[in-house]
Amino acid sequence: MHSFYFHSFIFFLSPITSKCVRNNMNEYVFMVQARGIQIRENVKNIGAQVLEQVVRGAYSINGTDYSYDFNFSESDAPPTTYLPEGFTYLPSQVCPEKLPSMKGRLEVNMTEISLEEVERFSLEREPSMAPGGFWKPTDCLPRWKVAILVPFRNRHEHLPILLRHLVPVLQKQRLQFAFYVIEQGGTEPFNRAMLFNVGFKEAMKDLDWDCLIFHDVDHLMENDRNYYGCTDMPRHFAVKLDKYSYMLPYNEFFGGVSGLMVKQFKKINGFPNAFWGWGGEDDDLWNRVQFANYTVSRPQGDQGRYMSIPHHHRGEAQFLGRYTLLRHSKERQKVDGLNNLNYFPLVSRSPLFTNITVSLSRKLAPIADY
Ligand code: BGC
Repeated sequence: MHSFYFHSFIFFLSPITSKCVRNNMNEYVFMVQARGIQIRENVKNIGAQVLEQVVRGAYSINGTDYSYDFNFSESDAPPTTYLPEGFTYLPSQVCPEKLPSMKGRLEVNMTEISLEEVERFSLEREPSMAPGGFWKPTDCLPRWKVAILVPFRNRHEHLPILLRHLVPVLQKQRLQFAFYVIEQGGTEPFNRAMLFNVGFKEAMKDLDWDCLIFHDVDHLMENDRNYYGCTDMPRHFAVKLDKYSYMLPYNEFFGGVSGLMVKQFKKINGFPNAFWGWGGEDDDLWNRVQFANYTVSRPQGDQGRYMSIPHHHRGEAQFLGRYTLLRHSKERQKVDGLNNLNYFPLVSRSPLFTNITVSLSRKLAPIADY
């Protein structure tokens, strides 16, 4: 609707009705815009994909494990190579980023398995994993210390599937890492963002981590070259999701799996605490990152592919007020985040992760009403 007619139309309504109509209308306009961006991005993505295939075909590099990596999508960086099989490095050297063991495409196994079983064979394979799932390579010096934060409620069958899949990948990537599963107790709607803030504060008590990965429990990467070190951060990892037909739903999409360096996360005051229920908190993080003048990077081509474990949103309510909150991201950023957060956690270590159980409520993150 043309904005002149729209504003004349709401002028005739009572103040309350008009505010309500305006809010609904704004949400509608936002959604239409998002849809427009989405269609444009999808067309762009398909174009980039086609181009990649053509170039790969021309150089007949398909099917080789150590092919050149054509990086047109995000940076115009020169082509880089994966190291050849048999490449040796020393315990005194920093681990390479593009290791020969990172072969690319991964099998995704979604069959259910018990946590005990995953613990058992993970420790058999890598006995050096310490309680809490702390691991670091011994054949080279880890380039990055990475805390993987996983917000959690009521998804007990998903967690072992994620750990079975991701632990060996991170070991192959020669990263120092540990998993933190932050479980929301109580009856308030799920607050993914606040759980990340809690996880961050608790993780930093253990170690001086330098990178943070914000990881949904049901997202399984399909390519082990999707490197979880801090290179090019802030980074959005889950670019191509099967549930969105492997296309970015909209350019500002920052959900599923994303990452920041610790210093960046502190600078943007972490995630917002004000998003109760499903949706919007990742969009707000995107805004925070933009306000801090960072540019988000993304893995190129198929490296950013993920499958998500099918599930029904078990009673998690959509947060309909998210568009209203998002309009005030900038003002809220200063007062809502790491600096207004209180919590009382229960921390325990299991073999593969640290469990942080926390009951959340609005009064734990006081904020004026935006
Ligand atoms: C929500 C985001 C979500 C995205 C994709 C948006 O409407 O605000 O939180 O990640 O949809 O599902």
